[in-house]
Amino acid sequence: MPDSVLRLLLDSSSVVISTHIRPDGDAIGSQLALAHFLEGQGVTVYCLNEDPPPPNMEWLPGIEKVKVFDGSLEQRRLIDDADVVAVVDTNKLERIGSLQTAVEASRAKRVLIDHHLDPEDSFDATFTRDTASSAGELVYELIAQHDADCINEAIATNLYAAITTDTGSFRYNSVTPHVHEVVADLLRRGELSPEPIHSAIYDTRTLPGLRLLARSLESLKVRFRGRLSYMIISRSMLADAEASTDDAEGFVNYPLSMRGVLVALLFTETAEGAKISFRSKGQVAVNKLARAFDGGGHRNASGAFVEGELDDVVEAVLAAAPKHIDVLEKEPESTGSDPEELTDEDSEYLSQLLNLKSQSPS
Ligand code: 5GP
Ligand code: MN
Repeated sequence: MPDSVLRLLLDSSSVVISTHIRPDGDAIGSQLALAHFLEGQGVTVYCLNEDPPPPNMEWLPGIEKVKVFDGSLEQRRLIDDADVVAVVDTNKLERIGSLQTAVEASRAKRVLIDHHLDPEDSFDATFTRDTASSAGELVYELIAQHDADCINEAIATNLYAAITTDTGSFRYNSVTPHVHEVVADLLRRGELSPEPIHSAIYDTRTLPGLRLLARSLESLKVRFRGRLSYMIISRSMLADAEASTDDAEGFVNYPLSMRGVLVALLFTETAEGAKISFRSKGQVAVNKLARAFDGGGHRNASGAFVEGELDDVVEAVLAAAPKHIDVLEKEPESTGSDPEELTDEDSEYLSQLLNLKSQSPS
């Protein structure tokens, strides 16, 4: 609970903060807000992650504190000599990647601040709530429990960025009156203006990124009576567009934005297999399907990585989908009764049309 986590952190002279691989805005924003707060309390803080921050978070105040773990003796010593290792925004120690062995070998106490389901119980103290919108919301509560007057512009900005990214700009189920109260307090204390923060996070598409979006939209397919839609990003699409997987951030929201769609999937091919993003609307849960492929996450947003050929992974996930998501149970016998629904034939026809279009000279 917050008291025991606070006590361990504030009684430390040195703390290492880490977060999950391929960190997102909530991961980095929470990590940095906690770092600024602890430094203000006289604690020496090191932020070490397996992967660098995403490019659209490089402007966060204090981002230079976040270092990529390189396995060097120097960094291992920081972990070894720390009083506490704090992990934010993941429920499992293994999600911090290659730092895990160094953290397990260290005599440091371990604390967890997280909002995912079923947090691991290998920590000395935890502050977790799976109904929280974000790790940022919990870091806010932790700081406020000590003294909300510690919240300065840097802390407020990082927490605002964390909460806005993990709530889809305040639209998901996880958004409660409490979230808006937290954010109102952050805006006031940090004297923040939301517009430049949103612009810095979201108006960051590149030309290659938008070209990749065009190609991935052409791959869009609809299944299960229009309730599931998915897109793929193959390695050749990435190469053609001269884009990177970072450019595909948020693409999964396009299939989800389709009328009638309840579940959206994005398959991104890598050298070893496919990264899958799962999204759903309302009460429809995708985390069971993600778990069936050794992934995990939240009810409406989950992920997994599956080894194998892209086409095989797509087929395997589509075949498993109705077993784990009730609303997909009945594949169509295409009654044609609902004009909103796209049958497989319709979508095949549509994609043929789209292909014809993209091949004809403009
Ligand atoms: P995204 O699709 O944005 O990569 O991930 C959505 C959410 O799914 C993340 O916030 C995280 O909670 C979870 N997630 C993503 N990838 C994995 C994974 O490989 N394993 C697990 N356990 N969870 C994941
Ligand atoms: Mn999060």
